[in-house]
Amino acid sequence: MARTPGRHFLQIPGPTNVPDRVLRAIDMPTMDHRGPEFAELGKAVLAGMKRVFKSTQGEVVIYPASGTGAWEAALVNTLSAGDRVLMCETGQFAALWHKLATRLGLDIEFIAGDWRHGADPAEIEKRLRADAGRRIKAVCVVHNETSTGVTSRIADVRKAIDAAGHPALYMVDTISSLASIDYRHDEWGVDVTVAGSQKGLMLPPGLSFNCISAKALAAAKTAKLPKSYWAWDEMLANGAKGYFPYTPATNLLYGLREAIAMLEEEGLESVFARHQRHAEATRRAVRAWGLEVLALDPRETSGSLTAVLVPAGHDADRVRKVILEAFDMSLGTGLGKLAGKIFRIGHLGDFNDLALMGTLAGVEMGLALAGVPVKAEGVQAAMAYLADCHRSGRRAAA
Ligand SMILES: *Cc1c(COP(=O)(O)O)cnc(C)c1O
Repeated sequence: MARTPGRHFLQIPGPTNVPDRVLRAIDMPTMDHRGPEFAELGKAVLAGMKRVFKSTQGEVVIYPASGTGAWEAALVNTLSAGDRVLMCETGQFAALWHKLATRLGLDIEFIAGDWRHGADPAEIEKRLRADAGRRIKAVCVVHNETSTGVTSRIADVRKAIDAAGHPALYMVDTISSLASIDYRHDEWGVDVTVAGSQKGLMLPPGLSFNCISAKALAAAKTAKLPKSYWAWDEMLANGAKGYFPYTPATNLLYGLREAIAMLEEEGLESVFARHQRHAEATRRAVRAWGLEVLALDPRETSGSLTAVLVPAGHDADRVRKVILEAFDMSLGTGLGKLAGKIFRIGHLGDFNDLALMGTLAGVEMGLALAGVPVKAEGVQAAMAYLADCHRSGRRAAA
């Protein structure tokens, strides 16, 4: 294959671009994971992840696994065969978590959705109020539905659970939102938060996380689903000393330590604001092209990715192919029932204004090349918005 010069634009909503600092941190000799030096690393990343989850009360475990492993861990540690779980069909990832839970022998009550809205707090409250026998043991919500670019209102779902006075555990998938969209494990009363390394955390794939409340730890004492690799007890007992019960992904943990440092140097609140700015600039570009953003409720638009509907009669995957071949940029495909209908622009992780402008320029040129009728005004609209942000930022600072 001929060489492609310059850096590939990996603008899928995860895995995201891994910053050079993280790559260099990973590029180190692997140390003895039972030796004294390791405990320092282990303690640093566990404490750092608590800060990223915004949890002082919770416990964190880190698995050498993709996010799917942490989904499974959340369920097998807290539930027993036949337990009822309330889940919300927000898109493909919610459907996959549902499938996983079904395979574990859980009894899922699935609230149907249109893949253009987040979890509906009012409907959750209604289902919980109707559950007089308290058969529902957990409510599971995907914070940022990566297949649709729609976020669910996690604090409002907490209020709905409380309003119903229901004791179910609350579990949230933040795989594509942690460290890119505001998230607060303690404040929002979440019992198990699930996360992964390869999206907002700017790492390669291969690590995943559970952040665990005291209530979830108590539930784990009586939960009967079989577990060994995922069991929290040995992870937590070893973790207290900075170690793992089995060989950790040591080099990814070097990268994690660096990624946490980078997030804290920028400041988590600035990280969230940067993602919101890029998301808004992207939506303005989409509207200026004359296209539609998949998310329908302005309270639920994602800060980490934007799903764009292509007009009927056009194939979104063909647009993606044209863009990859002409401009060496990867965009996210439409998953499940959205295949061919949308493409997804990832604007999360290690990303800045000019990287966004390169991305949007590639999309605008690619849409025209693929013969999709759009107005060539999206890049301009995004630039104008970013310039405004900088001007008002300067005014605020002055
Ligand atoms: C990426 C993603 C997953 C799946 O994670 P894997 O690392 O591929 O196992 C699950 N949920 C959400 C919201 C995701 O974005």
